[in-house]
Amino acid sequence: MEKAVTIALAGNPNSGKTTLFNELTGSYQHVGNWPGVTVEKKEGKLKGRRKDVVIMDLPGIYSLSPYTLEEVITRNYLLDEHPDVIINIIDSTNLERNLYLTLQLLETGIPVVMALNMTDLLKKRGEKINTEKLSENFGCPVVEISAAHSTGLDELIDTALAAVGADTRPQVKSYFSADIMRSIKDIEDMVSGRVADASLRFYAIKLFERDEKINVNLSAAEQGTIDNLVSACEEKYDDDTESLITGERYDFITDAMKTAYTKRNKAKLTMSDKIDRVVTNKWAALPIFFGIMYVVYYVSITTVGDWTIGYVEQFFGWIQESAAAGLAASGAAEWAQSLVVDGIIGGLGSIFVFVPQLMILFLFLSLLEDSGYMARVAFIMDRIFRKFGLSGKSFIPMLIGTGCSVPGIMASRTIENEKDRRMTIMLTPFIPCGAKLPVFAMFIAIFFSHQAWVGPSMYLIGILMVILSGIILKRTKSFKGEPAPFVMELPEYRAPRAKHVLMHMWEKGRSFIIRAGTIIFVACTAIWFFQSFSPSMIYVGDDIDQSMLAMFGNAIKWIFVPLGFGETWAAPVAAVTGLVAKEVVVATFATIGSVTTIMFSQVTAYAFMVFTLLAAPCFAAIGAMKREFGNWKWTLYAILYQTGVAYVLAMLVNLIGSAIFANSPATTQTALGAGILEDVSEGDVVNGDVVLIVFGIILVAAVIIILVNKANQRKKYGSLKGTEV
Ligand code: GDP
Ligand code: MG
Repeated sequence: MEKAVTIALAGNPNSGKTTLFNELTGSYQHVGNWPGVTVEKKEGKLKGRRKDVVIMDLPGIYSLSPYTLEEVITRNYLLDEHPDVIINIIDSTNLERNLYLTLQLLETGIPVVMALNMTDLLKKRGEKINTEKLSENFGCPVVEISAAHSTGLDELIDTALAAVGADTRPQVKSYFSADIMRSIKDIEDMVSGRVADASLRFYAIKLFERDEKINVNLSAAEQGTIDNLVSACEEKYDDDTESLITGERYDFITDAMKTAYTKRNKAKLTMSDKIDRVVTNKWAALPIFFGIMYVVYYVSITTVGDWTIGYVEQFFGWIQESAAAGLAASGAAEWAQSLVVDGIIGGLGSIFVFVPQLMILFLFLSLLEDSGYMARVAFIMDRIFRKFGLSGKSFIPMLIGTGCSVPGIMASRTIENEKDRRMTIMLTPFIPCGAKLPVFAMFIAIFFSHQAWVGPSMYLIGILMVILSGIILKRTKSFKGEPAPFVMELPEYRAPRAKHVLMHMWEKGRSFIIRAGTIIFVACTAIWFFQSFSPSMIYVGDDIDQSMLAMFGNAIKWIFVPLGFGETWAAPVAAVTGLVAKEVVVATFATIGSVTTIMFSQVTAYAFMVFTLLAAPCFAAIGAMKREFGNWKWTLYAILYQTGVAYVLAMLVNLIGSAIFANSPATTQTALGAGILEDVSEGDVVNGDVVLIVFGIILVAAVIIILVNKANQRKKYGSLKGTEV
């Protein structure tokens, strides 16, 4: 009877661990949780030959740093339980990235066997890995397998069992520069005897990296010696030791890759790869993204949308007339007629006018999502965000936030680092959500009917503000720190499936209509009430300036004077009612506009859009922020920050825009309102070059970002290299 053996499976997420585990254990598995935490723990017996071999499926991880729960669990398990052998399962189509973990596993001193998985895919792509060279470079056995096709598994198990008890100390090759290695050796000598001999290298490197979760009972003097070693290196290389180690590891891997890996045949590039070469290209990626958004907006809002507005308007106009006639005939009171005709039908109509174009917009967004393009956008943004010290993971909540900030804010839960998470919650509302679209659509229809750039410019400004905020906030104490590395997978492109696309579109459209029927309905009624009655509850009718709403507006309008829309009380009121739900901004203009005219120039209209884009989100999103922050202090801080940014930027738009366009058509006042949009005809719209303002702001912002970033010494982030396509 041989001694019982424990084999641990370790590897990156999606490398095929679970597939391999199931293949090896058959149905003999035990699923539980790691003590104290709810990360799945799977344990099973090797099926077939030897019943005394236990297989442990460890959580998927990219490194053994202490940033995520999974990483901590895995390294605690390896160091405390010391399994007999580690099978390091590797997605061989992402070899470089996977090897980063391999190096760290080797340092634990536990025998490692590399299992190169997905070799079937590798062959299909015409790529080759030289296993002998790889084995030589890393000093451990390498076996090619395919977990999904059950090939190479017997050889893998034989190799793993043969590696049990192997002397592993010499296999950890030194790949660090001489002086770094000397420091690590010094630390090794110091802690020798206090940790398992085999894991000495692991502990020494972690102490060198100032890993706070490592505890080996150092005396104050010893800690001081280590601090000196670390500081000396950091000074010499002008970088922190963790980044230094990461850099040296990647240098080693890059060297190893040169001999061990044969690049794919040029002719064998898949279609997806070819598209990605262009679409995720360093320079072309962003222009392509905005080009696509331009076309999407041009078609859905500017062209087709413009055409559908007329029909929906006619339809609601007809309902309004019929209702007015019916109510008048039945002898209803004047206020009741006003409530139904202007308040409810007018308010809802003002929003429903945009349903056809939003449906088209949603259709396009669903197409982009289903084809796989949105994943590329996340990838591109991840790359950019990381350059500015933001976690790449922040982009996923923001991507979800393009639909609605509430689930976006909730999606920030996947971010383990508390500081990154807080920042993401704060910045996600900067991204235009679905409810802000009707506001943009209304302003574009009235003031910018031939400038399809205005729509996408809102996304650009949102993203720029996220990046700028990231740079600024990262310098404050509350947000300092390195972003956790994050690697994402790019799915293959595929033809969008009609069913999925229509379903997505319908889901988005439906929630929009439901909101219109509920919260917005109530808001319209409330707005009607406040604009129709004086503070002493006397019905004011068309004498709207006597209403409570006017009083409220007049009391706060001075705040908005610097932004260009504080001259009259209507726009300030609309800016505030957006707190209920952003669509209510549109309804507010429509109901107020039915009795009075509201003046905007293109410049102030743009300032208003910018303010709506960035200011405190709606109550639902504020509630979500409160839930995720867990306290009011941070929630208030976030609201103040968002509104502050909105205020400053809208003011800049107004000041700069008015200066540039003084005496030009852009500052000509155009009336908004009177009915739904019925008074707006092509002839009324004066097209000043607001596009110029947009570009001006973007350019200034971009220059600031680049300057700040240059000053900000560029750091190497662990997984960045591995994600490059
Ligand atoms: P885990 O996250 O490491 O547990 O990975 P999974 O076992 O869930 O596998 C991720 C994906 O890779 C699944 O869709 C598997 O079907 C697929 N997969 C696993 N092994 C192979 C393989 O050898 N070849 C191919 N083509 N696909 C594989
Ligand atoms: Mg799994």
